Amino acid sequence: MKYRSILLFGAPGAGKGTQGKILGVIPHFFHCACGDVFRSLRTDTPLGKVFVEYSSRGELVPDGPTIELWSQFIKTSIQIGKYNPELDTLVLDGIPRNVAQAEILRDVLDVVGVYYLHCNNFENLVKRIQRRALKENRLDDANLEVIRHRIKTYESETAPLLKHYGLKLVHDIEADQTPAKVLGDILRTAATR
Ligand code: ADP
Repeated sequence: MKYRSILLFGAPGAGKGTQGKILGVIPHFFHCACGDVFRSLRTDTPLGKVFVEYSSRGELVPDGPTIELWSQFIKTSIQIGKYNPELDTLVLDGIPRNVAQAEILRDVLDVVGVYYLHCNNFENLVKRIQRRALKENRLDDANLEVIRHRIKTYESETAPLLKHYGLKLVHDIEADQTPAKVLGDILRTAATR
């Protein structure tokens, strides 16, 4: 059985995490942010070390360990009764993050919608990320060079996924609106089940 999923897409700072958290408290949506799963690892474990090494440079963790960790997280969430694949829609934030990951997950995910939080204003993204850095202890939010590199990584590795999923699935959402308006735009089509 494939997991019914919607994907939140957009550059770092576009608001995927904010929207994912809100959607995740609505009954029958289960939010999974891949970055949060990585951040929950102890940094003295082998994978925790790999995560710190890549994320502090603003780069993606290699696909193999990423998919492995994510699959384990989903299995555990099912086992402990947090996620019921028969009833719930997965809200994925940060995975798949490149075409190779999408291919690996092709037989696992039933992608019913891709919500592309579109932010044209580069400076807005940087401001949002820097504001977040003050609230959360994130190594990859720490300096401007790493932030710029993450945005570039997004453009070169993640943005091509929009083409991969195609026009039928992708919803273009204006990310420079208030969070409530962005949520409204997502729910207009995501709440159809
Ligand atoms: P952001 O969207 O702000 O860049 P995330 O919290 O989604 O932040 O991710 C933080 C870091 O975690 C990424 O820069 C990357 O190093 C790693 N990461 C998260 N998800 C993935 C993924 N699917 N594949 C590879 N690396 C990932």
